[in-house]
Amino acid sequence: MRDVPGRPTVAEVSLGALRANCREAQACVGPGVGVMAVVKADAYGHGAVAAARAFVEAGAAALGVSTVEEGVEIARAGLDVPIVVLGGAFPGEEATVAAHGLAVAAWTVESVRALGAAARAVGRTVAVHVKVNTGMTRLGLEPGEVGAFAAAIRDLPGVAIAGVFSHFASADDLDTAAARTQLARFAEARAALAAAGVHPPLVHLANSAAVLSLPAAHFTMVRPGLMLYGYAPAPHLAARARLRPALCLRTRITQARAVAAETPVGYGGTFVTARPSVIATLPIGYADGYHRLASNRAQVLVRGRRVPVVGRVCMDHTMIDVTDVPGVGAGEPVVVLGVQDGAAIGADEVAGWCDTISYEVLTAIGRRVPRVYVEEFDA
Ligand SMILES: *Cc1c(COP(=O)(O)O)cnc(C)c1O
Repeated sequence: MRDVPGRPTVAEVSLGALRANCREAQACVGPGVGVMAVVKADAYGHGAVAAARAFVEAGAAALGVSTVEEGVEIARAGLDVPIVVLGGAFPGEEATVAAHGLAVAAWTVESVRALGAAARAVGRTVAVHVKVNTGMTRLGLEPGEVGAFAAAIRDLPGVAIAGVFSHFASADDLDTAAARTQLARFAEARAALAAAGVHPPLVHLANSAAVLSLPAAHFTMVRPGLMLYGYAPAPHLAARARLRPALCLRTRITQARAVAAETPVGYGGTFVTARPSVIATLPIGYADGYHRLASNRAQVLVRGRRVPVVGRVCMDHTMIDVTDVPGVGAGEPVVVLGVQDGAAIGADEVAGWCDTISYEVLTAIGRRVPRVYVEEFDA
């Protein structure tokens, strides 16, 4: 493992895995469809700029972020692909959008007018992606509102309608009925645009689940996020692509001690040793994104073996029971999420222990944890 000076808790990220996953997404949709690599939330915890660069190297045609701030961070890296702010711009962010040449989701005429004015002020054009609500009930225009919107923004100075898009609510369901209803509503919205004489070059709807399972949703561009980081959004989709988890959360034991039977461990003494035990402390806690729900439930890897988390996860520390792995002491490498000596604990497994989803496990890994980039993980 790669060490950093000081606290040994690190998130090791494989650039080779990120690139391979992006090429795999491209293979799922074929060469005629662009991949907009979604790098919001610091690239799902992997580090936005490094991940974005890896995806562009692997052929990504665009990068998707949620916020203008995230877009600016990527824009400063000078990668030569469009950056689309999928969450739209808030009032007051127009000049920043224009200065950095970001493309933005939009669903109100006022916002597009303000974006166009800001773009013109710096001699530019802003690329707008019309956001349609087809079933998520989150953001965007209803299909029936799209025609009037298109007519109102079509001729605004400083504005180019670059795309139209929507987002799936349940493309990861075994039953694709809801996704097909959304596809039908999306078709309605596109027809309304065409009737208004607007034909955006970029048409995108598919998240990772739809990349893997719904070719009818691929259009001219797809927006995978999770699969680029090596996880399928649902177990039944896992066999559809060869994905490699790209992040390994590692640390080393701070202290290990032999204790008697009946010894309470951690806040509230929620774990009490049943036998003479060796309890080791890890320098990672919920402030690092290792969820408190992992308390007394999760496992970690020590010498390629699974050992249990015992007691409550603290803000900065977590205790594990290493009684069954003899000879373990301070400095021993521990994998909290990832691979070690042929054993693996995935983000989806950690998510199961913490009553959440792999997305949250990955994005929760805190700023206090340095990201260390490697080409490939050690075998
Ligand atoms: C997060 C997000 C995606 C990516 O979704 P995954 O399930 O991670 O593939 C795509 N589009 C939008 C609008 C998103 O918010």
